[in-house]
Amino acid sequence: MTRKYGIIGWPLGHSMSPTLHNWGFGELGIDATYEAWPLRPEDLPSFMERVRSEPISGMSVTIPHKLRVMDHLDHITERALTVGAVNTLYWDGDRLCGENTDVIGMTAPLKKSDSLPECAMVLGAGGAARAAVAGLQELGVERILVCNRTREKADALAADLNVEAVGWACRMDEAPGLICNTTPLGMSGELEDLTPWDGSQFPERCIAYDIVYNPLDTTFLREARKAGCETISGLEMFLHQGLAQFRLWTGQDMDEEGARALLKSSLKG
Ligand code: NAP
Repeated sequence: MTRKYGIIGWPLGHSMSPTLHNWGFGELGIDATYEAWPLRPEDLPSFMERVRSEPISGMSVTIPHKLRVMDHLDHITERALTVGAVNTLYWDGDRLCGENTDVIGMTAPLKKSDSLPECAMVLGAGGAARAAVAGLQELGVERILVCNRTREKADALAADLNVEAVGWACRMDEAPGLICNTTPLGMSGELEDLTPWDGSQFPERCIAYDIVYNPLDTTFLREARKAGCETISGLEMFLHQGLAQFRLWTGQDMDEEGARALLKSSLKG
């Protein structure tokens, strides 16, 4: 029987996940499909019953379901509990489990880096920022600063994950070895020309990590490159969170290079 996978979210805008996973199934000859399932918040409980009865073999979960979905699971990984959000459902025998592969996606490109910084700053304090902080903690980064436009949210995240909060206006006073943008500044549309960092003030040998992936090359990354910094695009995080999902669902690895090329061409198209 063809196995069923999909993504739930509301509103569910354009997602590259179906493109990625269906390509992987095809390449590896796996009899499965991945679909987009727009799901209103009030329909989550009945949908989660269907997940068990149909059954659905695995799911990606996006806004606004990443927290509420946790009430419907048999097991949640330590990683997802730390972040306080689940973006992936998978089966372990007859247990329906929740994982957060955004953390795995965030750390994957940094694991390839020659050396990790002692101090990292995360800009933003939303769901993606929580995943970024948890990832940096997994990597063993000693000092993690969180900086957000709304100070209270940075304080709450810092208290929850035991890191330091920094005022938005003071962010340029610090000289972190890694700056990770998790705000939507730089995203295509009206925020595209904006950047969360002053391009003339990148610390020496800093790594600039943008989790925005559309456009692929943001103002933040362009200015960082110009200042001599190593840069990491948000496409890497998206790619690796997807590869980790695929591995959980199938036990197999998608071809990384092929998947990267697919996502790049899908973004350009
Ligand atoms: P979120 O929970 O809504 O948080 C957004 C954060 O950005 C908040 O801290 C918010 O600050 C800040 N922000 C919003 N507009 C801002 C502005 N004009 N100036 C300064 N700060 C601003 O969203 P999220 O789930 O964390 O996602 C954030 C971004 O990450 C999105 O663009 C999303 O597409 C991207 N993302 C990428 C990946 C990937 O795989 N590459 C994965 C997940 C998310 P306030 O608290 O002050 O509102």
